[in-house]
Amino acid sequence: MKNDKSTVGGQRSITVLGATGSIGDSTMDLVRGGGERYRVEALTAHSNVEALAKLSREFNVRFAAIADPTRLGELKDALSGTGIECGAGESAIIEAAARPADWLMAAVSGAAGLKPALAAADRGATIALANKECLVCAGDLFMQRAVRGGACILPADSEHNALFQALSSGNRDELTRVIITASGGPFRTWSAADIEQATLEQALKHPNWSMGQKITIDSASMMNKGLEVIEAAYLFALEPDQIDVLVHPQSIVHGLVEFSDRSVVAQLGAPDMRTPIAHCLGWPDRISGPAERLDLAKIGQLTFEAPDFTRFPGLRLAFEALRTGHGATTVFNAANEVAVAAFIAKKIRFGAIARLVEATLEQWARAGNLAPLESADEAIAVDHSARNLAATLLPQIAAKAS
Ligand code: NDP
Ligand code: MG
Repeated sequence: MKNDKSTVGGQRSITVLGATGSIGDSTMDLVRGGGERYRVEALTAHSNVEALAKLSREFNVRFAAIADPTRLGELKDALSGTGIECGAGESAIIEAAARPADWLMAAVSGAAGLKPALAAADRGATIALANKECLVCAGDLFMQRAVRGGACILPADSEHNALFQALSSGNRDELTRVIITASGGPFRTWSAADIEQATLEQALKHPNWSMGQKITIDSASMMNKGLEVIEAAYLFALEPDQIDVLVHPQSIVHGLVEFSDRSVVAQLGAPDMRTPIAHCLGWPDRISGPAERLDLAKIGQLTFEAPDFTRFPGLRLAFEALRTGHGATTVFNAANEVAVAAFIAKKIRFGAIARLVEATLEQWARAGNLAPLESADEAIAVDHSARNLAATLLPQIAAKAS
C-alpha cells in the first residue's frame, strides 16, 4: 500500500473494539477479505463469549477481551490451547485499545466506548470512529485528546465519512455548510399519535440499514440523526447553523458539503457500512469494497424532504443541546441511552424517549448544572450524574400520558 505510514513490512495490525456487533461484523468481513494484508492484535466484546472466541480463533488474535468480568472463565475455556491472551472487565477493553496496533475500529455501542477510545487516542492510533456516543458525550475534549496524542480520527459513520470524502474537494475555510441525510426510519410517514404508540418490533424494522439494536431504535426516533448532528459539529469543528439534515428515504446520498462558490459535493453509495469502513481501512488509499455496485438507473429516483422537528422532537433537542453546550450534549446522550434501555425493557412508550431526554435536559439546566467541561473525566462524571437523573425522572415520564 503506497503512502501508508502505518504499514510495516506490508502487513497492518488491527484492533476491533465491539468486534461482535454489527459494525464489528462488517469490519471483520473486510479484514477477512484482505487476507495476509492484516494481522489482528485484539478483539473485544461485552458478553458474547461464543462469538468473540470464534473470531479470536479464526484470526489468531493476540488478545481477546470481554467487558463482562463474570465471563472470563468461559472465555479462557473457549480459547484454551490457542495461546491467546484473555482479559475481562472495563480495564481489559481499555488495555485492548492501548496495545500497539496500526489501525483501530471503535465500535462499542454507547458512551461505554469513550474510555477505550481515549486510550487509543492517547497512544496516537489511527482510529476509525463508529462510536458516535463517545463524541457526543465528550465533545471536543475527545478531539483535543486525539490531537495531543497524535491520533488520526477517521469518521466511519456513513454520513460523516461522506462529508470527510467530500471535504477533500475544497479548503476547510471554503466550506459554508454540510448536509447529512437521514432515511427517516420506519416512522417517516407515521402520524405523531401512531409514533407515540409504536412497538419495539416496529421500531426495529429499519427500511434500509441492518444495524445493532440501539442505533436502530435511535434511527426510528431520529435521535440517531440528532447524535450525528452533534458528532459532525465536534468532528469537523462546525457551528450548529452550518449543519443541515435532509430526509432522503433511499439512503444513497450520504452526505453533502457546500463550498463558498455554492458548489455542493456529495458522496453516494449503496446503504452498506462496509463502504465507509473500507474507506477508513484503506485510507489514505482506496481498497476494493464488497458492497453492491450503485445502479442509479435501477433505483430511478432519489427523493428529498425537510425533516419534521415536531413528530421527531429528538432532532430538535439535539440542536438545542448543541447550542447550549456546557455539557448539554453529554446529558442529551446519557438520557437517551437510559430512555432507549427503558423502551427495550418495555418500561416506557416510544414517544416517551424524547420526553425523558427533554425532562432530563430541563432539570439539569434548572439545577444550575450547566458548566464548561474541562476534561474528558469531567464529561464521564456528567454522563454518570445525568444517567442517575434520567433514571429518577423515568417513573413519572412512564406514568404520564403524551
Ligand atoms: P451492536 O450493538 O451491534 O454492537 C456493539 C458492540 O459493542 C458489540 O461487540 C458488543 O458486545 C459491544 N459492547 C456493547 N456494550 C459494551 C460495553 N459496555 N463494553 C464493551 N463492549 C460493549 O452495535 P453497532 O455495531 O450497531 O454500533 C456500534 C457503534 O457504531 C454505535 O455507537 C453506533 O451508533 C455506531 N454506528 C453503527 C452503525 C451500524 O450500521 N450498525 C452505523 C454508524 C454508526 P456484545 O456483542 O458482547 O454485546
Ligand atoms: Mg450514520
